[in-house]
Amino acid sequence: MVKQIVIVGGGTAGWMTASYLKQALDARCNIVVVESPSIRTIGVGEATFSTIKLFFDWLDLDESEWMPACNATYKMGIKFVNWSAFGGHFYHPFQRYEVVDGINLGEWWLKLKSGMEPFDYACFAVPALCDHQRSPRFLDGRVFDDQVQAAYTAEHRARRGVLADHLVQYPYAYHFDARLLADFLKGWATRRGVRLVLDDVVEVRRAENGDIAELVTRQHGAIDGDLFVDCTGFRGLLINQALGEPFVPFSRSLLCDSAVAMQVPVDVAAEGIDPFTTATALGSGWVWRIPLYGRIGTGYVYSSAFATADEAEAELRRHLGPAAADCNASRLKMRIGRSRNSWVRNCVAIGLASGFVEPLESTGIFFIQHGVEELLNHLHAPAEEELVKSYNRRVAECIDGVMEFLTLHYRASDRRDTPFWRATQTDVEVPEGLAERLLLWRRRLPNQRNVNPHYHGFESYSYSVMLLGLSGPLEASLPALDLLNPARALAAFEALRTRTAGLVASLPSQYEYLTHVRGGTVAGQRLGFGPRGTAVEPSAIAG
Ligand code: FAD
Repeated sequence: MVKQIVIVGGGTAGWMTASYLKQALDARCNIVVVESPSIRTIGVGEATFSTIKLFFDWLDLDESEWMPACNATYKMGIKFVNWSAFGGHFYHPFQRYEVVDGINLGEWWLKLKSGMEPFDYACFAVPALCDHQRSPRFLDGRVFDDQVQAAYTAEHRARRGVLADHLVQYPYAYHFDARLLADFLKGWATRRGVRLVLDDVVEVRRAENGDIAELVTRQHGAIDGDLFVDCTGFRGLLINQALGEPFVPFSRSLLCDSAVAMQVPVDVAAEGIDPFTTATALGSGWVWRIPLYGRIGTGYVYSSAFATADEAEAELRRHLGPAAADCNASRLKMRIGRSRNSWVRNCVAIGLASGFVEPLESTGIFFIQHGVEELLNHLHAPAEEELVKSYNRRVAECIDGVMEFLTLHYRASDRRDTPFWRATQTDVEVPEGLAERLLLWRRRLPNQRNVNPHYHGFESYSYSVMLLGLSGPLEASLPALDLLNPARALAAFEALRTRTAGLVASLPSQYEYLTHVRGGTVAGQRLGFGPRGTAVEPSAIAG
């Protein structure tokens, strides 16, 4: 058994890894986190993927405990704005298509679309719930999709949070303040015995066989361990710098490599809280908008080949308008790609040190969750070559799969109005498998048999939604539909329409629900803000 695990880094990756492993291994293993008091975390990863629910359930953490402490909100999907030449928007929801007579509603919509709403509003309840800023939960705590909740509860009891095998599409994820979440998890983990060393690692000492023997810190001397987890972010202090593992860049497929980020205050009582992330395409990339309880996290992800940092910041400020006039901006360089192997000798990289693609589908934290879960699945002492190989294959497939999915976002868009958008068609290398699939998807919507087969978190419905949203309807629908009576499909669309209208009318707003959970009154409540748009402490808000 591994006796001591040393995690370097106190960002989202470091504390998610420490908490997850502590819950799994408890007293059988010492866990130490070395967190630098001087090097800041990246602090911008604030929108998540719906599987994150499994992470909090794994820790037995109730939403009422952690959400108020992290200014968290619900996210039911992503709204893509201006991603096609004609403008407009569409939603990528955390909701699968219903199936009628063996055919999903996306396919049926292609056949029956004349006179219907756009595909996302016709096929899913989530877009209307988002437009009306609804909460995914009723005030008594019930989730709006009770069938999914029942399936999730049953499956979770049986499997207990195993990500890749999980069959249920949970109807929401979360937005949260990344720094507050790291602090919350730090408290959770240290109370349960994880040791925190507040110090800088200044040297990595190797053993004769090439393994990491110990880490030398500035003030606490040397720390030894059996397994070292590199959560040092883009630095890759252990995996890349000390062990020399090469980094595989994705710059030929994904052009964006920089970001400028801001935090903008918002009066949630007056404006409400959107239960979705927005991704708005701009001239050289796109802007994220992540609504928290008390502020908006926003930023422009762009390609430095097409805009300077000054130009990007100016474009972001124009986009945000007066609300952001007094807000500071931070500029970031993004390392897009992955370490060739994330597990090398007795070192495993998790988080940005392992790999990162631009946050268009909020997958950074999903990669952390996947990495740590697979680590637990593959943990063995001494590390066996086959297990390490299997781990590296799983992690690489997952990150590469998401890279492929994001490449589709640009490739399928018909925007050509700026040099950046033209370059997404002319200068980008489309991964081999995707090129073939794109040809197929001109004639057929994606299905589970022809999307990337490796686990990467996205199912065929997500590919289908992105294609319909970005490229518009295909020319023809499935020939088999000509032979089927559409009556049951038409009834399903009508039932969905009625159910959605009922939910819009009966669910509380996200602002009402979250304020209720925080123990505050709903009517007439206003929030105060600290300097530069920082929200006041949750306890002060709730009081
Ligand atoms: P960091 O946050 O960089 O933490 C590194 C840690 O290592 C720090 O604590 C630092 O002090 C420590 N450290 C470094 N060197 C040393 C040393 N020598 N000694 C001791 N400690 C050291 N993900 C999402 O899921 N959703 C999003 O919406 C999203 N948006 C993003 C937007 C942008 C622009 C970027 C760049 C990333 C985004 N991500 C997002 C990714 C997300 O931010 C990261 O996955 C997440 O924050 C994890 O970061 P990390 O902990 O690996 O690294």
